[in-house]
Amino acid sequence: MLADLSLDIAIAGCGVAGLASATLLRQAGARVVIYDRLEAPKPIGSGIILQPVGLAVLDAFGVGDAMRELGAPIKRLHGKNTPRQNVVLDVRYDAAGEDAPCGLGVHRGALFQLLYDAALAARAEIESGREVVGARDGRLVFADGAESARFDLVIDALGARSPLSRPPQAPLPFGALWASLDWVDGFDDAALEQRYFAARKMAGFMPIGRLKGEMRQQGAFFWSLKHTERAAWRAAPLEAWKDEVRALWPQTEPLLAQIATHDDLVFATYAHRTLREPLSRHCVHVGDSWHCTSPQLGQGANMALLDALALTQALASQSNIDVALGEYARMRLWHIRLYQAASWMFTPVYQSDSATFAALRDWIMAPLSRTWPAPQVLAALVAGQIGAPLHAIGARSQRRSA
Ligand SMILES: Cc1cc2nc3c(=O)[nH]c(=O)nc-3n(C[C@H](O)[C@H](O)[C@H](O)COP(=O)(O)OP(=O)(O)OC[C@H]3O[C@@H](n4cnc5c(N)ncnc54)[C@H](O)[C@@H]3O)c2cc1C
Repeated sequence: MLADLSLDIAIAGCGVAGLASATLLRQAGARVVIYDRLEAPKPIGSGIILQPVGLAVLDAFGVGDAMRELGAPIKRLHGKNTPRQNVVLDVRYDAAGEDAPCGLGVHRGALFQLLYDAALAARAEIESGREVVGARDGRLVFADGAESARFDLVIDALGARSPLSRPPQAPLPFGALWASLDWVDGFDDAALEQRYFAARKMAGFMPIGRLKGEMRQQGAFFWSLKHTERAAWRAAPLEAWKDEVRALWPQTEPLLAQIATHDDLVFATYAHRTLREPLSRHCVHVGDSWHCTSPQLGQGANMALLDALALTQALASQSNIDVALGEYARMRLWHIRLYQAASWMFTPVYQSDSATFAALRDWIMAPLSRTWPAPQVLAALVAGQIGAPLHAIGARSQRRSA
């Protein structure tokens, strides 16, 4: 049971980290105002995998079951290289134990809607159309020169490009095109499936369930693309790109048929940044404003949810804010460092021009990954459980996803 928090808290950013922090802090008794630059805050992008640790946080504030209802269980991550068609990625969540919880593919819109509704139900205030450019002395500074009221604490949940955080490193060479498409038969409805040509080309498809109020089951499709090649991709006929995808993965034909123009695909870039600690002079960071990376391990949103829970637990268990923020950093630091390092290591194995990394993946990592204890370790790694993050926060262990 959390102590009653009598703090006034400003949260900059209405994404996963901001909304989860707002709900948890409101439930603990704090007064919370969220500020976001969008007039009507909304999610951008396609689908993500919620890992068992992230679902445990959603359970902590009562929306886990609603999320499971909308999402699609993901029991396996499976990838083949071309043209040999060798299986080079095969991670099964149940390798960690027959009852081990699996991941959940979700539409970003479905996750956002549940988090947004939960924040409103908890009576968090939301101010939209507010572009944050700075913070000082407990206040947020906006692009029009105005300032917020003074708060006891300012939380930075502005994501990877937060102006309140240190800028991330230059974008990684490879990003990806993403689209949410109607589910089609012929794909494994409980797996993230991928196809690679060396590490230079990668396509993927995974189930993401449905949006609230809709019955249409969807999947997220992605195609690896260098940001330096984005302009050329856009200038070329869409059919030329489709031919390239078909050549890598002929089975995607019914997915490609749903993509009519370049605008049906959203391009996402990725960048790495890990601040040494989540505290800056005028705010505390949660989510991507503290640590951002490529989504190869599918952990970013889960990390953001864990940050929100840890920060709330720390503030509710200490009467001194500075001590609480130190406790928050301690709860999260090792888990974050471990996963940031793992993402940094794995990224070039799946997205780079390096033939060496691809060969390493296909000839050394793939066989090793089938040898004890690698299947168990990999299952725990993708589930977000290495480093026992829930235990560090003092939260209950997770339930099964499906
Ligand atoms: C293509 C892609 C695939 C991914 N796949 C996965 C996955 O499978 N699993 C997973 O766990 N994670 C995944 N991630 C990572 C995950 O999306 C992020 O880690 C997560 O969204 C971070 O949440 P956040 O709240 O910190 O930031 P965001 O969700 O980015 O929210 C930031 C909020 O701040 C607002 N904002 C930004 N700047 C300003 C400003 N100056 N003023 C006011 N408001 C502002 C934005 O409008 C937004 O509402 C993926 C990311 C990408 C790009």
